[in-house]
Amino acid sequence: MSKLRFRVVEAAFEKKAAEVPASTERPATYFGSLVFNRQKMFKYLPEKAYAKLIDCIDNNAPLDRETANATAAGMKKWALEMGATHYTHWFHPLTEGTAEKHDAFVEHDGKGGMIEEFSGKLLIQQEPDASSFPNGGIRNTFEARGYSAWDPSSPAFIVGDTLCIPTIFIAYTGESLDYKAPLLKALEAVNKAAVDVCHYFNEDVKKVYSYLGWEQEYFLVDEGLYAARPDLLLTGRTLMGHESSKNQQLEDHYFGAIPTRVMEFMKDLEIEALKLGIPVKTRHNEVAPNQFELAPIFEECNLANDHNLLIMALMRKISRKHGFRVLLHEKPFKGVNGSGKHNNWSLGTDTGILLMAPGKTPEDNLRFITFVVNVLKAVYIHNALLKASISSATNAHRLGANEAPPAIISSFLGSQLSAVLDHLEKSDSENFNLAGKQGMKLDIARIPELQIDNTDRNRTSPFAFTGNRFEFRAVGSSANCASAMLALNAAVADQLKHFKTTVDTKIAEGKDKFTAIIDQLRKDIKECKAIHFDGNGYSDEWKAEAIRRGLDCETSVPLIFDAYLKDSSVKMFESTGVMTRKELEARNEVKWETYTKKIQIEARVLGDLAMNHIIPMATKYQSSLIDNVYKMKDLFPTEKAVHLSSKNLEIIEDIANHTIFIKEKVDEMVNARKKANKIENEREKAIAYHDTIVPMLEAIRYHIDKLELVVDDQMWTLPKYRELLFIR
Ligand code: ADP
Ligand code: MG
Repeated sequence: MSKLRFRVVEAAFEKKAAEVPASTERPATYFGSLVFNRQKMFKYLPEKAYAKLIDCIDNNAPLDRETANATAAGMKKWALEMGATHYTHWFHPLTEGTAEKHDAFVEHDGKGGMIEEFSGKLLIQQEPDASSFPNGGIRNTFEARGYSAWDPSSPAFIVGDTLCIPTIFIAYTGESLDYKAPLLKALEAVNKAAVDVCHYFNEDVKKVYSYLGWEQEYFLVDEGLYAARPDLLLTGRTLMGHESSKNQQLEDHYFGAIPTRVMEFMKDLEIEALKLGIPVKTRHNEVAPNQFELAPIFEECNLANDHNLLIMALMRKISRKHGFRVLLHEKPFKGVNGSGKHNNWSLGTDTGILLMAPGKTPEDNLRFITFVVNVLKAVYIHNALLKASISSATNAHRLGANEAPPAIISSFLGSQLSAVLDHLEKSDSENFNLAGKQGMKLDIARIPELQIDNTDRNRTSPFAFTGNRFEFRAVGSSANCASAMLALNAAVADQLKHFKTTVDTKIAEGKDKFTAIIDQLRKDIKECKAIHFDGNGYSDEWKAEAIRRGLDCETSVPLIFDAYLKDSSVKMFESTGVMTRKELEARNEVKWETYTKKIQIEARVLGDLAMNHIIPMATKYQSSLIDNVYKMKDLFPTEKAVHLSSKNLEIIEDIANHTIFIKEKVDEMVNARKKANKIENEREKAIAYHDTIVPMLEAIRYHIDKLELVVDDQMWTLPKYRELLFIR
């Protein structure tokens, strides 16, 4: 009998919720208590340094050494008061996680003792010995080291005994080796380009912010059960497991009452998140059993992204306090929904206007349409790139699986906005003449009443307009949102720049400003029509239609990554100053390599489990059946024994057929891996893994799952889906 499985199942049933004592303080009191925010900057910095730092944060003013020293001193004072003993530069290498290297504040005082020190120099820059972070060859080629540099726009915070300073991570030669550096550049590019376009409508705008509100989906699994599943432990997903008879058919989990053990985890997580200044707001059960969601109030994109990375780390930590493991993998279980991370994205001005929201006046609405159309155009031109920005070995299981957006980027607009754009496109210039207020009579007069209904939803769309923002739904649950956000913001920045140039040219030629804008919008609406799709993204008709429309329909992840190196992508990234060709090439090397490694690990784990768990237990059960057959023969006359054992003989044969297939396929897979590993080119290697290894994983799994149905439950060593998904 399988001892471990039954022991962990029993233990899981007995677990009680780890109650989180209600805080005596209201959330508003402890919100941000662990963050060196403006309030604390004001309190701990000299007046002059405070003013300079704020100028640097708000207006990108350069930061002098004196201010850095004063900031470091203030930060240290605060951190020591909070009980911190260490500090770290906190950065986002291309591994998708975060990295930190802690140093104590202590230094020799020259008199045989110690003092606690933290200078501006240490705040601004560090050189982590980071030679083993992925860099796609940049640091080898340039023989340059990497260093981390302070990002003052994202506030420092304390985790445990450590002051964490958000930083970018770059090579000495300037190439970025992380996600934050290009994200900041993309945000700056979209700020500049959008401010320029805003000036057509509103001269006061000085800054445009990019906003991000992410919705994090995740699974919780009992820690004991998790530990008894080597595949979950090593790959983050189950590589085998027959569907549970009941899973999500009844849709009884979605928005249902949150189970008590889970509720305590959520409370604990929320308190810690609020202390770190993460404005968590929404929590609920998701569609699949044991699947949940958490969402904060949206924030400026760079900060929101830091907060998402921080919360993923918090979830990993706090889940263990409650006897759970959190699964952030996009598809931990076959047959039930996977997890995504919808990125709600919009642009807004320092004057408080949301640029993707309709307004009250005709000008407001023209501004609204201008931004929406430019976004659509950017998404149209760069649809392949945007898909690449959310693609990974893990997200590949989710996309196109009739539960998540298809692997084709299109945009849902809803009936009202579609009608407005249609109308603008089809009306002739005369009717749409906006010269002078009275010229707005016909069409624009109707637009002020625009109440874009955000209940008009389409869950199958990867990039949906939802009233005052777009929701990029294709992003995976484990991803660093920066990947998608930097591509999107850069693409929109580039498009807005083109728009501005064309409209300015028309104005220079003597056209009235609004006529020039409308002319150009009409042209753009026509040009990017192919991206607009309000229908069912899961349908086969859409796939056929999308091919006809010329949208990118590639489904192989290694090939999807090619979009980063298309001329249009390189040109866009270079002209917005976000990334150079060299950086893009290096990043793709990392992407292909990571893809290969992930599949390679899965193949090894599956091979091991098949040989060490599955085949032995199936054979053992088969032997007991064979034993039974022989005994039947002893007991009964031959003819009767044959009859009575006929079903067992079938099972014996069945098991043999499955185990033979599994063994052969595992051998075949080992050989295919050996062959693929010899390929030196990372792209080719990833393609080989995709084309040959991935289908084998599926084929082997199929036979293992069949065995699970016939082998004696008492002998089955691995926790089953019904246990993983329903015990909480
Ligand atoms: P849903 O119905 O999709 O779950 P929610 O109202 O829960 O929508 O919002 C999802 C996320 O979108 C939240 O983080 C929310 O703060 C964010 N959000 C709302 N408005 C905007 C906006 N204009 N820009 C960016 N994010 C936004
Ligand atoms: Mg949503």
